[in-house]
Amino acid sequence: MRKQYLLTDDQKDLQLMVREFVAKEIIPYAAIWDEKGEFPIGTYRKAVEMGLHVTELPEKFGGMGLNHLTDCLIMEEMGYGDAGFALSIGTNMLAYAAMVIAGSDEQMKIFADIVVPGGLAAFALTEAQGGSDASNCKTTAVKIGNEYIINGTKAFITNGGNADVYIVFAMTDPEMGVRGMSAFLVERSRVGVSVGAHENKMGIRASNTSEVVFQDVRVPADHLLGAEGFGFLIAMQTLDRSRPAGSSVVVGLCQRALDECVAYSKERVVFGRPISKHQAVSFTMADMEIQTEVARRMVHYSAQLMDNGIFDSEVSAVAKTFAGDIAMKVTCDAIQVLGGYGYSRDYPVEKLMRDAKIFQIFEGTNQIQRIVISSALMKAK
Ligand SMILES: Cc1cc2nc3c(=O)[nH]c(=O)nc-3n(C[C@H](O)[C@H](O)[C@H](O)COP(=O)(O)OP(=O)(O)OC[C@H]3O[C@@H](n4cnc5c(N)ncnc54)[C@H](O)[C@@H]3O)c2cc1C
Repeated sequence: MRKQYLLTDDQKDLQLMVREFVAKEIIPYAAIWDEKGEFPIGTYRKAVEMGLHVTELPEKFGGMGLNHLTDCLIMEEMGYGDAGFALSIGTNMLAYAAMVIAGSDEQMKIFADIVVPGGLAAFALTEAQGGSDASNCKTTAVKIGNEYIINGTKAFITNGGNADVYIVFAMTDPEMGVRGMSAFLVERSRVGVSVGAHENKMGIRASNTSEVVFQDVRVPADHLLGAEGFGFLIAMQTLDRSRPAGSSVVVGLCQRALDECVAYSKERVVFGRPISKHQAVSFTMADMEIQTEVARRMVHYSAQLMDNGIFDSEVSAVAKTFAGDIAMKVTCDAIQVLGGYGYSRDYPVEKLMRDAKIFQIFEGTNQIQRIVISSALMKAK
């Protein structure tokens, strides 16, 4: 159901503008990007011209200054076209979220001066040995004089291979455990920053996912975000804030799966009538609609809470988990509706299933989200 009764005229106009951009610049090319496994930098440049890469960045820094809900509307449209492209562009605002939490105006200006003209940002938290346990961080940042020297390797970083600026989490005091982690703004141009292995993924193949290596990278002390020791808190709060936008991408992907099914089921004739007239098929699509719409509403609710200054990890975890889980069901069902053609790369739905899987894994797996949700249940009075 793409009916949007409660949106403002500005939101509807923006939604339509992005929908047209997606129809023209993304949908016709998504299968090629998927095949090549390459980020389409030319399309990114076109999105940059429209400001779609800096949706939430305040206007005074050169961004669009949109709220979370409006950003979710844009991300849903992008996800409808290609989840990999949507996630890459959306990662700019993931990095920005860390800046909002802990960055000064001066740091925000450094970030904006790189990203606004067309740079890409990345959020570098995960390390190979740590995985879901982000506190198991081996990257270090040692303060010498007025600089920090960063050493370590980050794994599975979205935009890792083509980012111009990174938010990097490193231990300033390893003895202190999570309280010894700090966050830094690190420009790609710094000596010692390099890109490691590129991940050859099953889905979201238009998005670059790579290791990033920091070898004796010197950053000025004023590139520390907030204070020493607050890195873990900054990382967790950043992910809480970014989950609605990320989940909107998968809502768009589910909507695409449903739309493909509706169109196909009206055309495909088996046993003398369109398959849409077979109730088992039409009920499958009704279930896809229910799940997609409920996910959308949950995601919008979590964004609207944030727009009203309410940051609730449990709500954000519920929305992320539900949207990611139903996406697997919706996209699998989409393949079933298309039958053998759904399984073929000549049709777009098998890609949707491959793209959907990541939404149960990154930004905290859905098992980790269930830890967040069940902990909140146990604390509730
Ligand atoms: C395409 C892609 C893009 C990514 N982008 C970024 C990025 O931009 N920045 C970044 O920092 N990271 C990024 N990541 C990393 C991502 O967040 C991690 O992959 C994720 O946190 C899980 O870590 P892991 O893959 O090592 O899995 P593991 O932690 O090894 O988990 C393996 C399995 O065990 C389960 N598990 C682990 N611990 C528990 C537990 N306590 N209870 C129950 N189950 C548990 C997990 O749910 C999972 O099913 C990305 C990953 C991918 C694949």
